[in-house]
Amino acid sequence: MELYDVIIIGSGPAGLSAGIYSARSALRTLIITGRAIGGQAALTAEIENYPGFPEGISGMELTRLMQEQAKKFGAEIQMDEVISVNLKDHPFTITTYSGDYRCKALIIATGVSPRKLGVPGEEEFIGRGVSFCATCDGFFYKDQEVAVVGGGDSAVKEALYLTRFARKVYIIHRRDQLRAEAIIQARARQNERIEFILNSVVTEIVGKEKVEGVRIRNLKTGDESFLRVDGVFIYIGNTPNTSLFKGQIELDEQGYIVTDRAMHTSVPGVFAAGDVQEKVLAQVVTAAASGAIAAMEAEKFIARLEGREYPGRS
Ligand code: NAP
Repeated sequence: MELYDVIIIGSGPAGLSAGIYSARSALRTLIITGRAIGGQAALTAEIENYPGFPEGISGMELTRLMQEQAKKFGAEIQMDEVISVNLKDHPFTITTYSGDYRCKALIIATGVSPRKLGVPGEEEFIGRGVSFCATCDGFFYKDQEVAVVGGGDSAVKEALYLTRFARKVYIIHRRDQLRAEAIIQARARQNERIEFILNSVVTEIVGKEKVEGVRIRNLKTGDESFLRVDGVFIYIGNTPNTSLFKGQIELDEQGYIVTDRAMHTSVPGVFAAGDVQEKVLAQVVTAAASGAIAAMEAEKFIARLEGREYPGRS
């Protein structure tokens, strides 16, 4: 079984930044990507607020550059999924579909997955009109009408992206106030192709072979209505990808990994970075920063374990 200094689970901005810092510290580093490289960020059409890119950059390109940088410093990147971990014995064992790996320090950067509405028709029509990724599927809705559910940054940003293809984009939100940043809200309100349906929830996604519309309930009036759309994009927040770690490290009541400010989890030698532990500001810049901190703390942990002095602050 191969022994790495540091294994990083997840390849979004947190995992890739951890990889850059860890490999650059001459630690033998393995990044296990998960189902796709780049995490949620890679599915974001345009990232406008990551410093250094005044014209914006696509999430796909930004995470590709991060990968290149991690590889340049010697990080190994393995396209694989972790199926179990043993954090009780040290070195830790990480089991993937292709085999077992051991590591002295583990960085968990498994991120989050889109939350589902849980209404009839949602599961049934995934891939046939129900989508959680406008960047992946928006192109299929050229000159069609779509609904976006949610009122956060993701919903409004992705609705704006969808106006490049769809002739009409309805944003269905359960309150009359949006949660999205003011700058994004203003752009959406000025966009002629976007129409807001507020104080309303989707109660069913309807169709035969594919999505034909949604049933909506107005929460203020109780009125029920049917909206004809060809696609439904669901952006109602996320849930953390932590089922692998349940019972082995401390999670909060919502399932996020509990860390201190230096990304230490409840298990010495196990660190967490990015959305899987972030509760204050889930952004690419904070994910990258926490990945860097986790890697530096992993280096410190390994130095102490091996009885070496760690240069710098304790
Ligand atoms: P979010 O901020 O948690 O927003 C989720 C939205 O979905 C909220 O408007 C919420 O309504 C609604 N919602 C939740 N559960 C629902 C349900 N069961 N039925 C109907 N609506 C429901 O999630 P997000 O937009 O995915 O963003 C996640 C994080 O990434 C945030 O921190 C966000 O700032 C960040 N992000 C930033 C950018 C950027 O460009 N700056 C882009 C994307 C994401 P309520 O408002 O009523 O709670």
